Amino acid sequence: MKIKILNRLHNIEIVEDVLTSCNAAIMRNNLNKIFIVNDIAKELRLEYLLHECVHNINHQLNLGFDEAMTDRLACGLTSLIKDNDWKKIEKEILNAK
Ligand SMILES: [Zn+2]
Repeated sequence: MKIKILNRLHNIEIVEDVLTSCNAAIMRNNLNKIFIVNDIAKELRLEYLLHECVHNINHQLNLGFDEAMTDRLACGLTSLIKDNDWKKIEKEILNAK
């Protein structure tokens, strides 16, 4: 799997174990890789992925987010993404007069 973050392509790998302060996922900016452990609940994988993406955006844009801010924003983004049909919203907003 791959994800583009601020124009940089990153590989997403599901792995057996990672060593990180975030417990179940880690982003290696120098490798353009995101690792997510395979034993977390599947319904949490998107949130962990978004958490690592927020870390990357924070790093690239020097936003000054700490771990708690990163976690809360990832939680909000996960809800925003999961609870809405973005293709439909995009179509509707582009076609609105
Ligand atoms: Zn983190």
